[in-house]
Amino acid sequence: MSFSLHGLPVSHGIAIGHAHLVSHAALDVTHYVLPKSMVQNEIARLDDALETTRLELIGLRDYRPQQAAAEFDAFLDLHLMILADEHISSAARQMIEREQCNAEWALKTQMETLVSQFEAFEDAYLRERKTDVVQVVERVLKTMSGQPGHTPPSAQHDKNLILVAYDVSPADLIQLKSHQFSAILTDLGGATSHTAIVARGLNIPCIVGLHHSRELIKDNDIIIVDGEQGVVLVNPDKQLLAEYKLRQSQLDLERQKLKRLKTAHADTLDGTHIELHANIEMPQDLADVKENGATGIGLFRSEFLFLNRNELPDEEEQFEAYRTVVEGMEGQPVTIRTFDLGADKQLKNAARVASNPALGLRAIRLCLTEPKLFRTQLRALLRASSYGNMKILVPMLSGVAEINQTLQFLEVTKQELAAQGIAYNPEVKIGGMIEIPAAALALSVFIKKLDFLSIGTNDLIQYTLAIDRTDEEVSHLYDPLHPAVLQLLSHVIGSANKANIPVSVCGEMAGEVNYTRLLLGLGLRQFSMNSAQLLATKQRVLTTSLPEILPLTQKILRSDDPLKIQELLARLNAG
Ligand code: PEP
Ligand code: MG
Repeated sequence: MSFSLHGLPVSHGIAIGHAHLVSHAALDVTHYVLPKSMVQNEIARLDDALETTRLELIGLRDYRPQQAAAEFDAFLDLHLMILADEHISSAARQMIEREQCNAEWALKTQMETLVSQFEAFEDAYLRERKTDVVQVVERVLKTMSGQPGHTPPSAQHDKNLILVAYDVSPADLIQLKSHQFSAILTDLGGATSHTAIVARGLNIPCIVGLHHSRELIKDNDIIIVDGEQGVVLVNPDKQLLAEYKLRQSQLDLERQKLKRLKTAHADTLDGTHIELHANIEMPQDLADVKENGATGIGLFRSEFLFLNRNELPDEEEQFEAYRTVVEGMEGQPVTIRTFDLGADKQLKNAARVASNPALGLRAIRLCLTEPKLFRTQLRALLRASSYGNMKILVPMLSGVAEINQTLQFLEVTKQELAAQGIAYNPEVKIGGMIEIPAAALALSVFIKKLDFLSIGTNDLIQYTLAIDRTDEEVSHLYDPLHPAVLQLLSHVIGSANKANIPVSVCGEMAGEVNYTRLLLGLGLRQFSMNSAQLLATKQRVLTTSLPEILPLTQKILRSDDPLKIQELLARLNAG
């Protein structure tokens, strides 16, 4: 049966391929339908795995640490209780029987149901127990992965697979960089969630907020993903397929043409030079940075080094990662952001998830309460600073107290390194992200105390408009053109320029060609974006005359009518 679904396009392009359904917690569980004759075998497989896991857990008692025997016993009892809970075992059995699905899928689905029930608890202790549920289920899945199972149908195709998930965390998506998916579809997610940002970096179409895709799409269905319109066409007819294949090759051709701009200088028609830098998540992204001709790295989201792992990276590992990037850029500027963990980028074994994580202990707030973690990162960063042109950027600063504390941490770390005779650049520049409205409004202290500013429009918009950037229910309200947002942007860029302090935009707005001229008109001369968007932005810069766009930009700034703003923006972008 053919049908279409509509969602929020967050990464452009067109993909045609086969659906590959995954569950949302880990990306290694595939859905497939079993022949009726295999159903009882599958239930037996599940029961075996549950029993093996139970024995494994009981066996762990022999290894309990003496100094924490009571805590360890309590943890084991809890995990054994979860394992025996019929919400997991019986419900999974029933699901296998009812839907003829594989045991892993049934187990994962029950886990998700339980996790969402736990998330709704008022009581923080109970809410945190969802982590235990996940850990128990992952243990059973691990046991099952050691058993002979069935070959999922989609393993037959090694490319043109379209990932269909309820949700994908940024951490999961980073792991996907090594897989060859040709598009990503999710039921949850907002346009500037980190999942969307990472998908854009993969340079494949991505549509989020589809609501029911995982229920409606079956594994192996043929799918067209239209990342321009946010439309998914499932099992399309021959004519539609042919039309989309044509559009796909046209888009490829346009992409190829853009490659010619790789080494061109990003100068406007009136000769003003614009710096176009890249955002990266991992040192491996350097290849894309070079491929797209970025003249620096404006944002290295270092927190991605901390995701997908049980042990945190030590000073040596971090130093190597930072040095690789700094040396790899051969003297071009590299801005490394201290880790911005929390919100939608949680550590794997985070002890606690706040009830309102975007407003909780995130980024610099977390750093300042975890001095050991922060000092380790600062030592690694300072050591890497002597290998090239490196700057340090601090996320989520809201005011003078946090700035002072951060500078003090930096100073103490510098003294420590100096006392140990370890090299670092004593002049290393330190900047702050302007992504909380309070910071934008009380800007003078940032200008006074810091060397540069970088505007994080993703969070600045989220906090100004009180819209969760990861929540598809409110994504229609996420509006970079809201007059309040434009006023803040104009104020920050204008004040920084006046004070002669470098300012850039490193949020997603910087890589949207629709906003390039607007930002130029507000006085922005440095942009940092996903490498994949860099050449299209450069093309827009090359065709822009600053004196011509200024009057229209001023009109946009003065308007408080959304429709009028849209109309003026269209005029700004014409020609
Ligand atoms: C931002 O908030 O705009 C930003 C660049 O940081 P992140 O997207 O990592 O929160
Ligand atoms: Mg941010």
